[in-house]
Amino acid sequence: MAEVKVISSKLIRLVAKDQMTDRSLTARTVPSRRPCLTAVLRMAGLRPTRQRVALAELLFGGAHRHVSAEQLHAEAASARVNVSLATIYNSLHQFREAGLLREVAVDASRSYFDTDTSDHHHFYLEDEQRVIDIPASSIVIQNLPEPPRGMDITHVDVVVRVRKVRS
Ligand SMILES: [Zn+2]
Repeated sequence: MAEVKVISSKLIRLVAKDQMTDRSLTARTVPSRRPCLTAVLRMAGLRPTRQRVALAELLFGGAHRHVSAEQLHAEAASARVNVSLATIYNSLHQFREAGLLREVAVDASRSYFDTDTSDHHHFYLEDEQRVIDIPASSIVIQNLPEPPRGMDITHVDVVVRVRKVRS
């Protein structure tokens, strides 16, 4: 109940600020990204199954981020979304193939999935086993080799590995 109260007082503030009509108040009292994510999945050519929508909510419900399959599996479990790690892997790869995620492979056995698919690079923090963004403009790539005959370079990913200075 307490939670509901907080949400509605926030809504009232928003409405007062924007001087909205009753109709828009109704629209705002049911904030759900579900229809939007369903559309996103459909546009990417993926059938919006219950599991996919639930995983899409976990992945795209907030700010851009980088997650491993294991992290997403743990998040799904705490959100009471019942999916196996194998299903998580499959879904992440389907999302990647559909262009919704970018894979950042830091080594042969470890990948992170980035919800920001725009061009940029990454630091890999070895001690913490996580990746953080480096803006595309921070790295100048020069003297790229000619691609093999009949091929175009699609993009260049740079992973800069760092660890804490040992004293
Ligand atoms: Zn990133």
